Amino acid sequence: MAAPQRIALVTGGAGGIGAETCRQLARAGHRVLAADLPLAPERQARFDAEMAGHDVAFLPMDVTDEAGCAAAIASARASHGEVDVLVNAAGITRDATLRNMSREQWDQVMSVNLDSAFVLCKLLAEGMAARGFGRIVNISSVNGQTGQFGQTNYAAAKAGLHGFTMALARELARKGVTVNTVSPGYIRTPMTDAMPEAAREQVLAMVPAGRIGEPADVARAVVFLCGDDAGYLTGVNLPVNGGLFISF
Ligand code: NAP
Repeated sequence: MAAPQRIALVTGGAGGIGAETCRQLARAGHRVLAADLPLAPERQARFDAEMAGHDVAFLPMDVTDEAGCAAAIASARASHGEVDVLVNAAGITRDATLRNMSREQWDQVMSVNLDSAFVLCKLLAEGMAARGFGRIVNISSVNGQTGQFGQTNYAAAKAGLHGFTMALARELARKGVTVNTVSPGYIRTPMTDAMPEAAREQVLAMVPAGRIGEPADVARAVVFLCGDDAGYLTGVNLPVNGGLFISF
């Protein structure tokens, strides 16, 4: 019997990694909701053109607004049905050394990168468990594994996602819901385009694969973990970093 069509919600779905994940999930047969901050008209037009021919609908959502997330999910449920797959890919950086970091920079990064996983999982995981199927993938970072100069906020949030993932994986394992993280290394997206050229070159020199990663490299790993046939993989962190950080 063919697997039912799954509905997937991707936060940060208009970003570099998020948009490619939406496309690949749609190609894999999912109906996809790309949840992101409302887009300016020309970015919305670009996004629509990129998604043409794919089963991807844009869902305006600010992941730092808990009530707004609940309302967006309620409207998505009414139009598309229950969400079976959640990819938490919304993320920001606000880099500064600890000495120069403001409380606001700390709080913003925690809110978008870590608290959002709590908010979205609270809204969606219970329904997945009740229906006996769910896939949750949290997009972390190699910098959550190794730390990075000027990123105490970002590294703490991304490392926190690993702990969150491992704990929630245990809570949901018997319910058919898997919870995993994917940890990208350096991937060509607007986030890394914003890095100073010298810093980007320095990092690239350390990547054994000898190239920057592409959003497709990360999306491939996410789609794999979201498959109906990936039910025995839970609490896992899957690094996609070209060998930048190798461990077991
Ligand atoms: P990106 O292109 O900047 O995508 C991030 C997306 O999240 C953007 O569309 C952004 O919208 C959206 N976003 C920001 N704040 C939001 C909010 N409050 N509510 C909803 N959406 C919000 O960056 P990316 O590189 O694709 O990053 C995707 C994920 O991968 C992030 O979690 C990032 O930390 C992680 N990651 C990236 C790399 C890398 O090398 N690129 C490496 C490791 C981990 P705006 O554009 O409007 O701000």
